[in-house]
Amino acid sequence: MSERIPVCVAWPYANGSLHLGQIAGAYLPPDIFARYHRARGDEVVMVSGSDVHGTPTTIKAEQEGKTPQEVAAFYQQEHLGCWQKLGISYDLYTTTGTENHAEVAQDMFLRLLERGYLYKQTVSQAYCPNCRRFLPDRYVEGTCPHCKSSNARGDQCEACGKPLDAPDLIDARCRVCGTAPVYRDSEQFFLTLPAFRDRLLEWVKQQTHWRQNVLNFTTRFLEEGLIDRAITRDIDWGVPVPLEGFEGKRIYVWFEAVIGYLSATREWAGLHGDPDGWRRFWQQEEAKSYYFIGKDNIVFHTIIWPAMLMGYGGLNLPYDVPANEFLTIEGRKLSTSRNWAVWLPDYLSRYDPDPLRYVLSINMPETADTDFSWREFVRRNNDELVATYGNLVHRVLTITYRNFDGCVPSPGTPDEQSRQLIQGAAETLQRMDTLLYGCHFKEAIRTAMSLAHEANRYLDGKEPWKVIKEDRQAAADSLYTALQVICGLRTMLYPFLPFSSQRLHEYLGFEGSVEDCGWELQALPPGQKLRPPQALFSKLDESVVEEETSRLGTAH
Ligand SMILES: [Zn+2]
Ligand SMILES: [Zn+2]
Repeated sequence: MSERIPVCVAWPYANGSLHLGQIAGAYLPPDIFARYHRARGDEVVMVSGSDVHGTPTTIKAEQEGKTPQEVAAFYQQEHLGCWQKLGISYDLYTTTGTENHAEVAQDMFLRLLERGYLYKQTVSQAYCPNCRRFLPDRYVEGTCPHCKSSNARGDQCEACGKPLDAPDLIDARCRVCGTAPVYRDSEQFFLTLPAFRDRLLEWVKQQTHWRQNVLNFTTRFLEEGLIDRAITRDIDWGVPVPLEGFEGKRIYVWFEAVIGYLSATREWAGLHGDPDGWRRFWQQEEAKSYYFIGKDNIVFHTIIWPAMLMGYGGLNLPYDVPANEFLTIEGRKLSTSRNWAVWLPDYLSRYDPDPLRYVLSINMPETADTDFSWREFVRRNNDELVATYGNLVHRVLTITYRNFDGCVPSPGTPDEQSRQLIQGAAETLQRMDTLLYGCHFKEAIRTAMSLAHEANRYLDGKEPWKVIKEDRQAAADSLYTALQVICGLRTMLYPFLPFSSQRLHEYLGFEGSVEDCGWELQALPPGQKLRPPQALFSKLDESVVEEETSRLGTAH
């Protein structure tokens, strides 16, 4: 029975380049998951897009003397290019700037209003008398009341990490012109989150398949109690509030961006000529939706978005939210402002995508923070991808190609070792199936790599390159067995290493795409014509370590 899987991926702000922390945390895991499910024959729709609203984009636009639209369009293009090069296989990567998204977000707003989950209240809001406009939290700067850092923002102090409200700041000023803000009354809409607390607690209790950190965080948050949150603001960049008399107001980005998962699925269905096609992913009970995010985003996906869905009614709640922990870089906390980061466009301009996918997968920050270092990157590329997996593939393919007329040899009766190895491959696939289904990606790729190790040991024992001189059939037997295992590894590693798996698929003489061969040990038939093999991976020089680490922390 095939399953229906909406794969919902965090929406990056369209205000800067992507970096490795985001890839390891939120963007690579859903791609592995989607590829695995597609190979399994499940119906997947993987969606995301640029979060174009929100002050990060308007701040960037002001810094560069551009419009927010221009900034968003620029990074949308850059991100699309990166996804393609890294092989992140979205079914749709759109933006929150579409007409469709505005309609779906406004529909959510109106339904929640109609059902009594939104209410109006007058609040005091920072206003710059010089710029003559209301100031979003991030546009008010001043001295932190906790740590006295002079560059705290009206939503948070970066120096001590404490959340703030603009009126808390000492010597507050407008970040655009430096004038001290005044506070003016303004009417805003609020979401009655506490109304959902009991239902949320009840629901969360049943999610025993969630990761422990996600479950703990969510439960603690709910037990501490929820407060009403403003969902509109006096700004001009964002989705308009769909009510007369509120023309100058916009829906707050935190409320509107999460609706993107739904609006993007609707857009995808429309683009495929099936405007109702989104319903089977969002309304049929058997559909299981997964949300891939970093740990800083948990509350929006396990509390706020589910509350909105409960309030709206008739839409599926998240099935799983496998949030990842953080990736540190060379042992230090990643910081984009200090350029302590590895930027994805830089990486992709110099190296192949699969080694990065490999290193981030085998060391994925699933249950604890993990570290990326260039030394480990080079080591894992050279010792594991090249020397273990790549070498296994290359020696088997080249010996076979040269000695058996470029065809898969015909085996005799397999001996005990060969049977065991094939049995091991079947068990590995089975084990990986369980792991991938449960979003345990790190363990899954480690399992595949230990099969590659085993196959190398098998070959070292059989030595077909020596044996072939006196016993051609014995060499044919062991090469045939090794080829079957390699053919299995091509499938098992496909979700992680799609580019090299596809090449291997072709060297093995298959047509079409690996994904279409299904999630199974496909037999490689004797006599199948192979294609001339080439190395799957290239060794990296040690100098890469020095070269790359010297870029960290310097002006970007
Ligand atoms: Zn101002
Ligand atoms: Zn502070």
